[in-house]
Amino acid sequence: MILVESGLYLGAASDLKDHTNLSILGITHVLTVDSEQVPLPTQFITKYVRALDDSSTDLLSKLDECIQFIDAGKQPSSSVVVHCHAGQSRSAAVVTGYLMKSHNIPLEEAKSKLIQIKPDVKINENFLDQLALYESFGCKVDFSSPQYKQFRLKHLSEQFTDLKDLPKEVFAADPGQTSSTEIAYRCRKCRRTLFCGSSILSHELGSGSAAFPHKKTAGSGHQAGCTSYFIEPVRWMEDALLGVMDGQLLCPKCSSKLGSFNWYGEQCSCGRWVTPAFQMHKNRVDEIKHINVMALK
Ligand SMILES: [Zn+2]
Ligand SMILES: [Zn+2]
Repeated sequence: MILVESGLYLGAASDLKDHTNLSILGITHVLTVDSEQVPLPTQFITKYVRALDDSSTDLLSKLDECIQFIDAGKQPSSSVVVHCHAGQSRSAAVVTGYLMKSHNIPLEEAKSKLIQIKPDVKINENFLDQLALYESFGCKVDFSSPQYKQFRLKHLSEQFTDLKDLPKEVFAADPGQTSSTEIAYRCRKCRRTLFCGSSILSHELGSGSAAFPHKKTAGSGHQAGCTSYFIEPVRWMEDALLGVMDGQLLCPKCSSKLGSFNWYGEQCSCGRWVTPAFQMHKNRVDEIKHINVMALK
């Protein structure tokens, strides 16, 4: 077990066996980022995040709550230890995230700082990618941002063959069944409301647009060149998506063809690959702006 900075230790599961030693070091809080939890006496305040040291683990979604726990334990009168099995990858990734956020430093600097203190640190590539994303988010995960949603979907698609069920939270609420003041999109044929503007996961234009500059569609900036909206899955798609790698997306009311999906990704008309892809053809849907009734009075 190594002291990273005042009140913060990084260690392995074996370091937790000697409870007396933990108490001598002033450790009150234990954060376990491992595939199993280590039994500890009740005097310790514990937090457990189940994590495997591989590409299937989504640490990013848990990072903010881990950092909050570290902050709570890392006090003048108490200390916290973050550990995984070997103390080299999972726990080191969380501590790196903590250093990035608390010192407001980039990933590379936080990583080098930690390796100087604990040279055997070896964070796996998957976690490094997630930390890079965390850095791009300004060290705070906004669960409603398109970037986070795209990360979450891509992460799910990588484990798609192992998934028995899709987590409910990846689906946006069905705007056809709720009222919203947001911009929404509806079926051009039957006018059924299909998705909200906040469900659009926009992407940077691919190189295809350079080859076809005349193809740019009218309308606002970043969507030019794309003939489809790439969106997050919406509740009404649930049955169509389950257990299937790719297929068509049909209007839930009139069954007209609106677009397609593919968990392995599809190429946008602009040339950009989007993985996974849930796309609605722009010429099959109409944008509607909900008018705020109060504003008219
Ligand atoms: Zn595009
Ligand atoms: Zn329809």
